[in-house]
Amino acid sequence: MNEIDILKNIAENLSQRKSSAALNNYEVLGNNIKFLNDSFIWGIENLLILQKQIELDLEKDELVTNNFKDNSKSHYYFRKILPRIVSNDISIIDKFIANTQPDDRQNITLENVHELKKTFLDFSNLVTASRQFIDSLVSDAYQLIKLESKEINFHVLTSLHSFNRFVTKSIRQALFNSEIEDSLNEFNNLSNNKRIRGNESHITKCSETSFGNKVDFLFSQLNLTTETDFQNKIKDLFSFSSEFTHIGYVSTFFTSSSDSEVIFKDDISPYLPSTENFSELKYELLEIVMRFFTKVYLPSVDKALETAFVKDTYDSLLESLNVISDRISQDLKTRNNQYYFFIKQGLIESEETIDLTCICGTTRNWEAPHDMSKIFCSNCGSQFNLLEIEGDPGYIITSNGPVKVIGSSVPDFNELPIEKQIDLLKQCEKVVNEQTK
Ligand SMILES: [Zn+2]
Repeated sequence: MNEIDILKNIAENLSQRKSSAALNNYEVLGNNIKFLNDSFIWGIENLLILQKQIELDLEKDELVTNNFKDNSKSHYYFRKILPRIVSNDISIIDKFIANTQPDDRQNITLENVHELKKTFLDFSNLVTASRQFIDSLVSDAYQLIKLESKEINFHVLTSLHSFNRFVTKSIRQALFNSEIEDSLNEFNNLSNNKRIRGNESHITKCSETSFGNKVDFLFSQLNLTTETDFQNKIKDLFSFSSEFTHIGYVSTFFTSSSDSEVIFKDDISPYLPSTENFSELKYELLEIVMRFFTKVYLPSVDKALETAFVKDTYDSLLESLNVISDRISQDLKTRNNQYYFFIKQGLIESEETIDLTCICGTTRNWEAPHDMSKIFCSNCGSQFNLLEIEGDPGYIITSNGPVKVIGSSVPDFNELPIEKQIDLLKQCEKVVNEQTK
């Protein structure tokens, strides 16, 4: 191809937008977004409580390790900086949460469905909030693990240096005093090279200058070396969001169409393709960002706490941290799973409505004719797989205990008399013991 061929392809394919439908199910996306968003709100409320506790505990000499007591050591000053870093991060996470709320579909009709349309503004806000999240939390997690004076000096002075270039007089007055001025002047007098290298006499250092290097550093420090896919996904999100925050051609083109859209409809209300596309992206972002929060960010806070506090205090703070991490990890695991049901052979071809109750508690009343594309949970997005069993088998004994075969002429397990339940559980135990022999 020559340059004109390429330009022709762009002009013909990337100038007039075709309408596009997302591959996911909008109702499921909406439920999953709400579920994860609620979980994250709970997590941040609890992180805020923990942050306040950390701040208080760092003020008490008897609770911190020796290096944190000695004002000739750099760690001493992290008693003020550490809680500030976490508090800054909470603000960033709050913004992300505000931008990943589920769509309000109440009272949406054909007349007002256009209110659900997602435009350049929505996409730009969502992706920019995600970019700020990932960028800031990677950078802060790095600082929390390092807890080094030169590294944090570089981080803050670089920020101050940029801020100072355009800040208004009144803000400047509120923020700058002679001590800050002196520090900044010292920094400004250094060449970029000297700021980064951090040799003996230098005041600043930055060992990992790029986002990607910081991510690699974190994954190696936190023993996440087997998580290469996730590590790459974080970097992919960074590149993708650059496209949006720096107003790239493709992202702007994709999101700024003013064309009218076809109207879709499900059990809840009408909706638009752009709403569904947007929800799909929102869900993916929520999922990856929350995974990052539990796998990378909270463990980095943990490392900092371990360095700062004496054992008893550290243990008690860690317990609170683990409560947050465990609940969010658990919540993430409950979305979009694969579940298996045993079902009596012939039932699928019958006229009967088959009730499939998902682990999340939602039941799908699967009506005849039984359409295989409809067996998923509308609440959590899990896919159901059916294993047909011949005859009238009753219960199947699995590693999770006895399970009723759907369509069998026996009561549900928990409707059985207690002695029958115990009897079945004993049989399970026997099977498990035989298998493990
Ligand atoms: Zn479910």
